[in-house]
Amino acid sequence: MLYYSLNNFKNYVSFKTAVLTGLAIDGGLYFPEKIPKIKRTFIQNIKKYDNYSIAMEVIKPYIGEYISEEYIDKIIHNTLNFSFPLKKIYENIYVLELFHGPTLAFKDVGAKFMAGCLSYFYKTIGELITVLVATSGDTGGAVAKGFHNVSGIEVIILYPHKGVSDLQEKQITSLGDNIFPLEIKGNFDNCQYMVKKAFLDKEIKNKYLLTSANSINIARWLPQMFYYFIAYKKIIEKNQKIIFSVPSGNFGNICAGMLAEKMGLPIKYFIASTNINDTIPRFLKGEKYHPLPVKKTISNAMDISNPSNFSRILHLYKNNIFKLKKKLCSYKFTDEETFNIIKKVWSNYKYILDPHGAIGYLGIKKYLKLQKVKTHFLETAIFLETAHPIKFLDKMPFFLRKKIFLSKEEKFRKKLKIKKKISLSNNYNFFKDWLIKRRR
Ligand SMILES: *Cc1c(COP(=O)(O)O)cnc(C)c1O
Repeated sequence: MLYYSLNNFKNYVSFKTAVLTGLAIDGGLYFPEKIPKIKRTFIQNIKKYDNYSIAMEVIKPYIGEYISEEYIDKIIHNTLNFSFPLKKIYENIYVLELFHGPTLAFKDVGAKFMAGCLSYFYKTIGELITVLVATSGDTGGAVAKGFHNVSGIEVIILYPHKGVSDLQEKQITSLGDNIFPLEIKGNFDNCQYMVKKAFLDKEIKNKYLLTSANSINIARWLPQMFYYFIAYKKIIEKNQKIIFSVPSGNFGNICAGMLAEKMGLPIKYFIASTNINDTIPRFLKGEKYHPLPVKKTISNAMDISNPSNFSRILHLYKNNIFKLKKKLCSYKFTDEETFNIIKKVWSNYKYILDPHGAIGYLGIKKYLKLQKVKTHFLETAIFLETAHPIKFLDKMPFFLRKKIFLSKEEKFRKKLKIKKKISLSNNYNFFKDWLIKRRR
């Protein structure tokens, strides 16, 4: 399997190059040259397989030529070492909890898988690989944890001073060793800018083998297919088709689900639920693709207005918007709607949504309303709960905070101590000097 750039279909590279560079030199995202099909008998008998065998079946056609099966198996075991509970909210509406990993967010899956791939490639190149990443919160924590003490890899994380939650900062800074957190006196955009500039800087590239770890990287994107298959396995006896609602920011998570569907997983429909950063809802309504300046919301991991993975989604449907709209719709929700539904779901069903999962749930409600279907006539609808509410404690209704606080995860937070962080201004040259000096 080769991968081509979405900016130039003739620009093919290996999985290894795609993972080590993140983005193609022409600025395009990488895409697999063909989409492998899962055998129908495998889908029919999916109950017989454990999560590891399912993951192997899904990922092997993409990477089997590059990494030995034995090692892939090792990576998978290390990645899927936590649970993915599917819980009923009511009738046919379910939540798929993706926050039982080490940093309580779905990004743990992609981060751990990618760390495994990089550490395998390190063995063949023998040169230290530096992962450089800007974070607005969740990515930093997941990448730090996923790459901690992985041999041959170091991680430099830029995060905005006062721009991430207390728990998120601790997750980034409590590890030490090969993890280097840089607290930047500025906002997320400043961090992002500095990282992008470093990737293009020849002097830095002379001294570093740099790669990124956001959802652009195929080693982070592809493994996100695993839990769509796992959810399907849990619900299959109902013999119904599934609708997924995915709280979306960069659209990497939903795009993995859509790839899984193209591979043969029977998913009827996708709902991309967003906050008021609504470029895609507007686009699918027929407006021009026109990202507006990012607006801050309480679902801040989705404060993104130009979702990088949307080009992959368009490509999956050969840019045919008519066909795409038969599989995908997208709705936006305000902070007020988000906040109110968190309170309502608690009072009606005693389930605590985080602001991102809440938007996923709202997507299903809106879909049902527009389709004028009663829930019990509906196929199974699943929304993804992408993070544990404790990560967004200050955004949660006051009366719920204590309940979340008292959950076992609070102990988890108290345990973490800031071990190492370096403070820098948001001046690119200072950052560059810091990078160059540590390689003299
Ligand atoms: C990153 C993130 C999202 C958005 O996922 P994308 O793949 O960027 O669409 C949603 N919720 C949480 C909690 C996240 O951390």
